[in-house]
Amino acid sequence: MHSDSPESLAMVFTAPGEKFEKRNGFIPDLQTGEVLVRISYSTICSSDLHTYCGRRHSPAPSILGHEIIGIVEAASESAHYYSGGAIQKGDRITWAVYAYDHKGEMAKMGVPQKSADLFKYGHHQISNEAPLGGGFASHCILKKGTDIFRLNADVPNEVAAPINCTHATIAGALRLAEDLENKKVLVIGSGMLGLSACAMSSIARADKVIALDQNPERLKLALEFGAEAAFVSSATENPLAEIQSQGGIDLIIDTSGSPDAIETFLPALTIGGRLILVGSVFKQRDLQINAEDIVRKLWTIRGLHNYGPQDLAYALNFIQEWHEKFPFQKLVSQSFALEDIDEAFSTAQNPEHIRVGVRNN
Ligand SMILES: [Zn+2]
Repeated sequence: MHSDSPESLAMVFTAPGEKFEKRNGFIPDLQTGEVLVRISYSTICSSDLHTYCGRRHSPAPSILGHEIIGIVEAASESAHYYSGGAIQKGDRITWAVYAYDHKGEMAKMGVPQKSADLFKYGHHQISNEAPLGGGFASHCILKKGTDIFRLNADVPNEVAAPINCTHATIAGALRLAEDLENKKVLVIGSGMLGLSACAMSSIARADKVIALDQNPERLKLALEFGAEAAFVSSATENPLAEIQSQGGIDLIIDTSGSPDAIETFLPALTIGGRLILVGSVFKQRDLQINAEDIVRKLWTIRGLHNYGPQDLAYALNFIQEWHEKFPFQKLVSQSFALEDIDEAFSTAQNPEHIRVGVRNN
C-alpha cells in the first residue's frame, strides 16, 4: 500500500443473499505482465446470479462479474495483445474470462480453459495477490497470461460487455460445429446464448435457423436475431413433428441445459448431424441417448465449457462487424451505477431481463 497510490472502489460479495459491501482500497503496483484497467461497464451473467443466489458455491469475499470492458490505465512493459503489439494507456479493451500459463500442458493441447491454476475473473477470493479481479469495481488488474483484445470505439458498452462470455462461448460452439453453410440449425433456449447462436449461425450462412424456448417473448426476439422460425416448447406443445416434416436438422446447439429438451429434439437430427452442448453447466440427471442412433446416423456429440482465445477473437470480430444488424443493445434492459449493485442484482433476478448492466462512472 502506498499513500500516493490511486484509490479503488469495489462492491464486494460476502455471502449469498447478503448486501454487497462497499470497500475502498489502494491500487497496488503492477507485477510483470499485468494491466490495470479502469472498468467502464460490466453485465450480470447468469453465473453471477447463481453465485449471488447460493445455487453455486463461490469463494468469498470476492468481486463478482466477468463480462467486463474497460480502459487501460497502466500496463507493465511485458503486457501485449493476443495478436501482438503493446498495450497502451487509453486503449479500450476486452479480455478472456481467465488467465493461464501459456506454456502449460493444457494450453499446448488447445484447451487453455482447462489449465491448472487457472485464474478466473469474478471467481476468486480477494487476496493481496489479487485485490481487484472482478467486474463490479472501479478497476480490474489483469493477470499475466490473460488474452487481451482491443475493442472498437463504436460498439456500445452494453453490447461489448458480454462478448467475452456469451458470444465467445457461442463462437466456440460454432467452431465445433465446423461448416454451417446450407445447414439447418436448431437452437434450444433463447436466452442470451441462444440469441447469439441464432445471429452467428445466420451470418455463418446456415440455410435455416430455428429457435426454441418456453417463453414466447424470447422467441419474438429470436426472430430479430436471425432465426427464421421459432417454436414454443412446452408440456403441451411439441413441434418435433413439424421440424421433422421440414427435413430435419443438421446441427443442434443446446443452450438450455435441459435434458428433457435435448432428448425431445434429438430425433430431429439427420444423418451426419451434430449436437453441440453448451448449456449444461449445472447438476442434472443423465441424458438418455440410444447408442444405435449415434452409430447408424453417424452423429457427432460435442461439449464446450468456456472457450479458447480464438473463439473470443471470432466473437469480437463478429460483434464489431454485425452489432448494428441485430438489436444486441436492447438485450441489456437496464443499467445501474456501481454503488446501486444491490438493486441491479435484484432486478436481474427477474427473468424478463436478459441482461442487466452495471456502469462505473
Ligand atoms: Zn458468464
